[in-house]
Amino acid sequence: MPEVFRNYINGQWVECASKRTFTNINPADTRETVGHFQASGAADMNAACDAAAAAHAAWAALPAPRRGEYLYKAAELMEAKLDQLGAEMTREEGKTLPEAKGEVKRAINILRYFGGEGARQFSYQIPSERENVFCYTQRKPLGVVGLITPWNFPSAIPAWKMAPALVAGNTVVIKPASLAPLSAYRIVQALDQAGVPAGAVNLVTGSGSEAGNPLVLHPSVRAISFTGSCDVGNSLYDQVAARRIRIQLEMGGKNPTVVLKDADLDYAAGVLINGAFFSTGQKCTACSRAIIEKPVYEALTAKLIQKTRQLKIGNGLNPGIDMGPAVDARQLETDLKYIEIAKQEGAQLLCGGNRLSGREYDHGFYVEPTLFGGVTPEMRIAKEEVFGPVLALMVAEDFEDAMRIANGVRFGLSASIVSRDLTRVHQFLNRIEAGLITVNLPTAGVEYQLPFGGTKESSFGMREQGPMALEFYTETRTVYLKYTQ
Ligand code: NAP
Repeated sequence: MPEVFRNYINGQWVECASKRTFTNINPADTRETVGHFQASGAADMNAACDAAAAAHAAWAALPAPRRGEYLYKAAELMEAKLDQLGAEMTREEGKTLPEAKGEVKRAINILRYFGGEGARQFSYQIPSERENVFCYTQRKPLGVVGLITPWNFPSAIPAWKMAPALVAGNTVVIKPASLAPLSAYRIVQALDQAGVPAGAVNLVTGSGSEAGNPLVLHPSVRAISFTGSCDVGNSLYDQVAARRIRIQLEMGGKNPTVVLKDADLDYAAGVLINGAFFSTGQKCTACSRAIIEKPVYEALTAKLIQKTRQLKIGNGLNPGIDMGPAVDARQLETDLKYIEIAKQEGAQLLCGGNRLSGREYDHGFYVEPTLFGGVTPEMRIAKEEVFGPVLALMVAEDFEDAMRIANGVRFGLSASIVSRDLTRVHQFLNRIEAGLITVNLPTAGVEYQLPFGGTKESSFGMREQGPMALEFYTETRTVYLKYTQ
């Protein structure tokens, strides 16, 4: 019997008020139910926000290094269950087991990193113009923060929001994505087992509109950190703007890899395959546009077709699988819709393009990794986020043309260049419109100790992860202290 997972409110595992649940299924085999989760509504979310508000003063008063110790303990508990947590993620999200275990390990590293930040919440001591006056800044937590997370990194993203929020002295309420809530549940469970005081962390599952929106509207919530689609993120911004609370939005991308004519083409093909197809292309940082200088376009295209055809698609729990299924029927439909649109707009289908069927494929949401050639900047496949394993190959006349194409979209999350030409690489680094830039590496594959975020319509607000994450979760106060009278 699949387990029924409860909300976590004020230190208790509780059913939602309506007692309704929703089902989390395995996208690789829809006959398998991963678990049932609470279909919460406003009453549940309000209870969680009230509990977080009541717990805040005591949590904020705890010395920051002691708050960090809870994160260390939770990391230890998760590490002891790494294999189980990885397999659960594969079953709820579909990514391959090595990818899932890598992500759980990353969540563990994030907990440890921010555990350490408990002892490193540096501020400034700045000289005063006046005699006998001592001036310094203090970091203060905001209060209750609301965290809304997507399904594609169901452990790392909840971890990279919860850990800095908590260590800075905020109490949190998290609403994970309905397609993959178990991974976030496991982090909250580890924090509970680590002994985090009641109310400091709260988890409420349920749909975005019924459970998520009341979080954004609750008067005690002082900040919202959101990762997900542009449509939802922008609507949340509009809702909180009138209340002047802080908001941080990490949203979509249309990330380019520029390949210059001097590149090692086998190496470049590897970079592109990794960036475009790993995790089924369902990474906000996935590469969806390969912008290739004309002299090497044909040769690189041939290598890409060959390598794409070699990818093994299947249930990510099985060894040797390179790419799992789409996360659900709707994402599969979106992938196939964009493949159709690209064909109709005149792009050349080079390989893939179909839903996979027969054998195990009939029970999951499998689509072939797909390459389109001859894509031009005005085609929708070159401008809109698909969030699936579809790579558009585009010819650039020269470096200037490549830069024009790369920057010609509304997104600006990640971008990469493959080249040994130091001058061109530096020109690219100076001019590319992206928050995450890689050289001779895929567009995806970021590390937890470095700041993360995009520009243009991909992101809004302060950076996540790394030392800058604490900026969002704290505000600075300035103290002037005269030590004589
Ligand atoms: P989504 O549909 O926007 O959902 C994200 C979260 O928002 C989910 O928890 C969702 O709940 C919730 N939500 C939906 N409507 C809401 C509302 N009215 N009020 C409050 N919460 C609401 O995005 P997704 O499909 O999960 O994720 C895919 C998108 O995320 C892609 O566009 C991808 O590029 C982006 N992404 C960006 C980054 C980044 O760092 N830039 C990282 C990962 C993913 P339900 O699950 O219940 O609908």
